This record gives sequence, C-alpha cells and structure tokens, in this order.
Amino acid sequence: MRASPLLRLAGSSLSRFGLQQPQLPRLGAAGTIRPHLTTLGALEGGIRRPAISTLSTLSTSPSSSTSTSASSSSITSINKIYPTLSSRRRNLNPKTFVRNCSCARMCRHQALEGAEGSVDITQGREVLPTDFIPTHYDLTLEPNFADFTFEGTVKIDLDVKKTSKEISVNTLDITIHETALQIDGKTISPISTDYNEDIQTHKFTFDQDIQAGQTVTLAIKYKGELNDKMAGFYRSSYKDAITGETKYMATTQMEPTDARRATPCFDQPDMKSTWTVTLIADKDLTCLSNMDVKEEKDAGTGKKAVTFNKTPLMSTYLLAFVIGDLRYKETNDFRLPIRVYATPGNEQYADFSLDIAARTLTFYEKAFGVEYPLPKMDMVAIPDFSAGAMENWGLITYRVVDLLYDPKTASVDRKQRIAEVVQHELAHQWFGNLVTMDFWEGLWLNEGFATWMSWYSMNEFYPNWKVWENYVVDNLAAALNLDGLRSSHPIEVPVKRVAEINQIFDSISYAKGSSILRMVSKYLGEDVFIKGVRAYLKKHAFGNTKTTDLWAALSEASGKDVESAMATWTKKIGYPVVTVTEDGNKIHLKQNRYLKTADVKPEEDETLWPIFVGLKTKEGIDESISFSTREHTLEVKDADFYKLNADQSALYRTNYSSERLKKLGQAAQDGLLSVEDRAGLLGDAGALATSGYQKTSALLDLISGFKNESSYVVWAEISGRIGAIKATWMFKPQEERDALKKFQRDLMSPLAHKLGWEFTDADDELTQQLKSLAFNCAGLNGDPQVVAAALEMFNTWDPKTNPDVIHPNLRGTVYGIALDNAKPVGADENTAEWKKVMYAFEEGRNNDEKNVALRWLGRSKHPKDIADTLAFSLSEHVKDQDIYQPLSGVRSHREGSEELWSWFQKNYDLLIKKLPPGLSMLGSVVSMCTSNFTSNEQADAVMEFFKNKDTKGFDRALAQSMDSVAAKASWLERDSEDVKQWLKANGYLEKQEAKL
Ligand SMILES: [Zn+2]
Repeated sequence: MRASPLLRLAGSSLSRFGLQQPQLPRLGAAGTIRPHLTTLGALEGGIRRPAISTLSTLSTSPSSSTSTSASSSSITSINKIYPTLSSRRRNLNPKTFVRNCSCARMCRHQALEGAEGSVDITQGREVLPTDFIPTHYDLTLEPNFADFTFEGTVKIDLDVKKTSKEISVNTLDITIHETALQIDGKTISPISTDYNEDIQTHKFTFDQDIQAGQTVTLAIKYKGELNDKMAGFYRSSYKDAITGETKYMATTQMEPTDARRATPCFDQPDMKSTWTVTLIADKDLTCLSNMDVKEEKDAGTGKKAVTFNKTPLMSTYLLAFVIGDLRYKETNDFRLPIRVYATPGNEQYADFSLDIAARTLTFYEKAFGVEYPLPKMDMVAIPDFSAGAMENWGLITYRVVDLLYDPKTASVDRKQRIAEVVQHELAHQWFGNLVTMDFWEGLWLNEGFATWMSWYSMNEFYPNWKVWENYVVDNLAAALNLDGLRSSHPIEVPVKRVAEINQIFDSISYAKGSSILRMVSKYLGEDVFIKGVRAYLKKHAFGNTKTTDLWAALSEASGKDVESAMATWTKKIGYPVVTVTEDGNKIHLKQNRYLKTADVKPEEDETLWPIFVGLKTKEGIDESISFSTREHTLEVKDADFYKLNADQSALYRTNYSSERLKKLGQAAQDGLLSVEDRAGLLGDAGALATSGYQKTSALLDLISGFKNESSYVVWAEISGRIGAIKATWMFKPQEERDALKKFQRDLMSPLAHKLGWEFTDADDELTQQLKSLAFNCAGLNGDPQVVAAALEMFNTWDPKTNPDVIHPNLRGTVYGIALDNAKPVGADENTAEWKKVMYAFEEGRNNDEKNVALRWLGRSKHPKDIADTLAFSLSEHVKDQDIYQPLSGVRSHREGSEELWSWFQKNYDLLIKKLPPGLSMLGSVVSMCTSNFTSNEQADAVMEFFKNKDTKGFDRALAQSMDSVAAKASWLERDSEDVKQWLKANGYLEKQEAKL
C-alpha cells in the first residue's frame, strides 16, 4: 500500500508533498495513511513530519475517568506503552508506577514473553492450522445497495495435508447460511460450527475424519455487510457531478487482514491460491476484478453475472473487486491495455497517471527481466479510501487525489505525489504480488522495496526533480526520526496478532526499509543491486520469501556477504550516532545507540552496527571503509577538510566537535559539500541538539551560515529544523516565540523577495518548490511585503467566480496568512477570513482544492473558529477518510493544540467508532492530538486519560507520541536558556528578561 496522505504527511517530505501545509504528523504506512514523518518538523503552518517528533499539545482537561473495570487486554496494552515512561519517571510519578503493576497485565505479558523469547519468531503467531491448504477459490458475490449487504458463495478446493475432523477459516462480520464439504463424490455437512471472535475464525467440525492425501471442496453460502469502514468489501459514496444525488459504489481493501470480511478464506500471505471471481450486479454498472472478463451472462432478475478469468497464484490480501457507475480512459502505450476508472466526469483527469503507468510498466519489465504477468492493468479512483493506494494485482485502487491530476488546479507537490504513488503501486506488481513475504514481519520487503523502486524510477523519468537529493529530507529523515525513539521497532518486527499488523505500516517499514535498500544499493552499486533483484524475482515468482532470500540473491549477484552486513540493520531496533574525535590526521570514531530522549541505558547500547563510513575528502569519496566494532580509527592525508557519511548514504548520525562543525559549515559555503551532504549536516546537527549531544545554539549558528544557500532541499531541511525548535518552544513565553519567528523571517525574506511569487512556464519543479517555500516561510513569519501580497490575492479571489487568482502552489499559504491576520470579531462569531476559507472548501473544484481548505481552516486562533473547525471534522461534510485534515491546522499553534486535546477527550467514543482500531488512521489521529505536548506533566495527563482504555490497535502510536513528548521536555530542560541567550546575543530578543 502507499501510506495514506495522513501517514505520509506525518512522516515525510517537506519537500515533495506540499510545503507548509498544516499536515499530519507523520504516520506510518502508506498504504495507509502512511503514513509518514525526526525531528522534523514542522514547516510553517503545520507539520509535515511525524507529528510524533515535533508537535506538542497541551492538555487542559485530563479525563477523570477512574473506571476499574478495565479488561486485561486494555491493561496489557497500556503497559506495553509504558516501559519507557514508567522506568524513567517512576520516581517522579507514583501513579505511573501503579499502572505498571497490574497483575492482569503481568500475567498476560509474561505469556507473550514466553513466545517472543523463543528462537523461533513464528511461535505465538495467530495462524491457521496447516492441515488443509487452499489451492483454488471459486467466489460469487452479489452486493445489495438497498440495505448495504452482500450475498456470497465460495467453493474452496483444499489439499488435505493431515487427517482431521476440523477445518478452520478466517471470517469477520460474516453470517454463514450453509456449509458443505464435497468429499469422494459425497457431500457432508458439519456437525458443529463455532466462531472464535478473538482470532476471527469459523471452525467447522465434521463427524468423520477427512483423510490426508485427498482433495476436497468446502462450499459456504453466507451474507456479509457492505460496510462503511473502508475495510474488506465496503461501500463508498459520492455526489453525482451532474445531479448532485448521492451514489454508491462497492469496492475492496483487503490488506492486511480484511479479505475475511469479503469471504471465508485462509487469510495469510503464504497461503497463495488461484481465484475465479463472479460478480452479480445491475446491468448498467461496471464490474472489475484482478483479471479480465471471461464471460458475461444474464443472471435473471434483471442483473448480469460477470465472470473473470482465473488469477495466477496470489495471496488473499491482493484480491480486489469494484462495482459502480464508472467511466474510463485507456492508453495503449504499453503492450497491454492500461485504464484509469473514475466516477462520471472525472475520467478526464486520468492522462497524467495513464502516461506514467505506461512508461513505468515498460521500464519495470526491462529492469526486472520478468514480464508483468496479468492481461491488463486497471487503476481506480475511490472516493472513500483509508490508505493512499493499494496494489491489488491488476486492479490498483487509489484515493482520488493520488490518481487524478488537473494541471490547472494542482500544485507541483500534488503532481510529484501522484507520480510517486503510481510508481510505488506498480513496483508492488512484482515485489509483493509476484513474490510475497511469507508473513507480515516481512512487510518491509514489500514496502521498503516499492518505496526505493519508485524513487529509482522517478529519477529515471524526471531527472530534473533530483529526487535522490530530496530523499535525504524525506524518507531518510522520517526513518531516522521515528527510529530515534525508544518505542520504535526493528524492521523485521515479530507481529503475531491482527491488531499488531496494521501498526507496522509505518516509517520503519517504508522509510527505514527503503533507506536500508538504498544503503545496500550504494554498497553494491545500483546495477549489481538490480541484477540481484532480478534473480530473486525469477527464483521466487509466485512464491513467498523471507528477508534472507533477498540477501542470498544479492550475495550471489555481488560476490559479497550481504547477509552478515545487513542482518543487524533489519533485526535490531535503532541506529548509531558516531562520535568523532581528532588527533592530527587520525580520526577516531565511536558508535553508540542514538536515542532522541538522550537517556540510553547500557543494556540498550549493546548493538554494534556494521557501519559504511563513506569518507569524503578533497580527493573524492572512499566507500571501502567499514567497521562493526565499538571504536575505529582511520587516517586522512589532510584533515583540513573531510566529512563522514558522504551524500548521507548510510543510516547514522555524526557527532563532530564544535570546531569541526564550524569548519564544515564553511566547507558548505565553499562548495565542497553536495546537497545531500548539506542537508544531512543540518539534519544531524538538529537531531544532536534535540538529544543533547550538541547545544542548540551551535545548530542556530550553523543555520545562520546558510543565508546564501540556493538548494530547495537544503532550505526545506532548514525550515524543518527551525520548525522543530518552534514546535518544542510552543509553550514558552511569547517574546521567545516571536524571536524565533524573527530569526526565520530574516533568513527567508531575502530569498522570497529575490525569487518573487510569480510562476512561469520556465520554472522547473524545484524552482517552483523553492519559491513556494520562501513565500510560505517569509509570509507566515510576518514579512510585510509577502503578507501584503498574500492579502491582496486573498481579498480579490473568489473560489466560485474567480478561483485562479491564487496560484495552486501558494493556495494554502495564502489562506494561512489571511487567517493569521484575521480581523477581530466577537466571541460568538467566526472571522470573515475563516468563513471565506470554509467557502473555498464548499466550492472547491475537486478534492485537492477542498483538502487544502480543510487543512488550513484550523490555522485561525480565534476561539470560535477553532471550535467550529474541530466540530466540522466530525460533521457529515467531512468523509471519515479526511477527519485528520482539519486537525492538522489546529495543531499548528498553541491555542489550537490545547483545544485539540480537550476535543479529543470529549469525542473519544465517537472517534473510536468512526475509525475502528483496525485502521491505522486511528493511531495517526491519536498521535496528532497528543504529540504536541512538551512537558512530562502533560504526558502524564494523556496517560491518565488512556489508563483504563483499550489501546489495542494504536498502542504503538501512543507510545511513540509520548516518547517524542519526553524528548521535547528534556530538550527544553537542557537548552531553553541556551537558546534564549543566543537569541539575545544575535539581536532577536530584547536583553531584558522575557515576560511570561
Ligand atoms: Zn506499498
């Protein structure tokens, strides 16, 4: 999947996904509201990065809930969250200690430990017995749009591996009408049918043994719910563009474990089968599935029955079907037909993604040396979609905004996002669909590779986007950010239960996974890397693999021992900080685990990573140096200039002495460092200030030296770094916050004035992005010229009659500046500016325009505007898939952050209902509403609220949010005086004491 925009924004690029929009904290997965988001912080107006790292919120009304009826599972979850906080703060807060002593939790936890402690990580997995192995499914489904149900019949051919009386299949929210087993030409019925809700299985027991060695067919008639949860076989609604009438389509989202909502099945990636699907629907509706149509018949009752050709062997999570009133455009630029489907009228925006898809499939067939094995490729824009996109084999589904592109109304970031998402999903057709991980802890193989591959191909098609430069401030930053938290997890994480699986669609699987692959590809060379991938795909086509299978293929292609170099990187949590000391031309390196909270305990610092040093000197880059010991010494010819981690190819932070950092700052100005090096230098300095290895004043000095920088990527990193400081200082006195704004304005205004804010056809994408960023950072920090220009645009623009006055690249920033400068009104009124942005939402010409308005509405600090924005997010006007959008603006300032937490507590039950824990979106929303805090007291209030709640499904997100709050609290404790003194010494803060 591609993380949902939510996730994506949360964790990812400043650069590519819209500048300063108030975005989400980064989440986790792509496919899911993948998520995505080091510190990173926040650009103006909101944060694109993992909310987790930078945001802060104030708790004003901690729940007083004292229920004592918590279930053991909720207690277990709470305690899983706590190892970090509890041990660190036990002495500070006895209540926390009490929470960790729950007897119920201890018992449960010990049980899990027993399984996890075993050498075999597959133990404890909730998997089906292997007595029966499915080989083929014959599935017929008929949705009923009148009552939102569907009738299904499935016949599953099974190889009997072990004699048994019992067959278990996964199901969820399915009512079974009838079950029969065809065996030896006879049909028998089960004597009992039992449902286990905890592990989501129906078990059928027969009165006779079913002997091993034969093939039997299990036939089940059943009814399911065409639900509105964006999971399984679900309904999606939209307004007819012409009549305004609400219409429905039926569609699917099976990954990771929701195929069981559509049909009883063996819902595990390693149980691959072939499928024949038949859909019964009204004759005027379009029916789509993974394969092309085999035949269409009259089904009687005025409906048609559309049967599709048999699929190749595939995993259940890739099954897909769509039924609705759809139109399409087609391209024949690839050897097979490619179509983009959309609701009527919207198919006209399909050209960009059709073109990229045709070029990408051609490119991938050549790169992988394996033909795309299905007869067609359909891509469908779905109005309600929890992730960003889903790679169903032959039938990829997308959020509307991630597939359809209107060059007249879309920003440059939107275009890049679509290109990336389409290429990501197409990479999965081989990596994931043809060759599949054997269980979910191999998810990184799918997602890390699809992420790396999409950048590799974007670099091929759009060399002037310079995507690998961007990678450093996007995926690499997201990976290092999340993985710098104690509550991160190894890339290969043992997941056993369904509730754990959705939570690993995060920056570790996508961003760290792809960063590991980028590191290997640089170590082996891209050509050798692709050669190994080719061999891997050929050898395991239609099968399942483990991570070691990929390493074996790469070892064979390269002649190097890839597994021993990489195993630590995938099996261990975290990454190292390398501390550099110098003695003449000798450079001494020492590695330790990096933690953002700066409180690494000896037992957490036992991993020694194999580190590819990547030494850059005036003579070039030496890629041959590596070490996997605690300490290592190397020698350079001339110590005047050198830099480690050349082009930020490896996953580690470098901690230089302050003298060396100054010299490197100068080297950056002297043109000795690449864009990746400059962005990486700033990123490392920022992360090391956050965690106390360096003073924040040293970071501010370093940033000040970049006034003449010309690269968009480097400016995006600077903006993220200042954003992280501002987010952490969110609850400090106004004077200090104003001083930080002034600092950023001084940096960005000259650039904004020089570049201007007109866009011409001669501007390439990076120029457009730099202009947008400068306009955003100068304007939202109060540059008078930019503010005046923005207000003039805002005042002359009308979303209905004169919508093009504001350039798409500036749209959000202009809303933000107008809301920052809103004219005061009474407490019971909305500001005129807020009303106008709301009007822009109502009149938006497409989902992209509406989303920009939604994200920025919350930027207003007027209390009624804040309250109404929050209320609006839960109204019928905002789809559940977009609930997070209005929250992102609200959390971009102190006033909103406080209200956001109150709102979350008041609406908790409703949120849980709208966003079931199975969807990773809930974790993102929890993260957005809690991670803006900056003190331990605030964190305690959050945990008090969750004390007796079942946090299953978002316990990992909550733990990460609390870790990031702890990191900000300790940063403030260490450096708030240091920053104040720096601001005074540099003229941004009056020398007298700042007033509260
Ligand atoms: Zn994916």
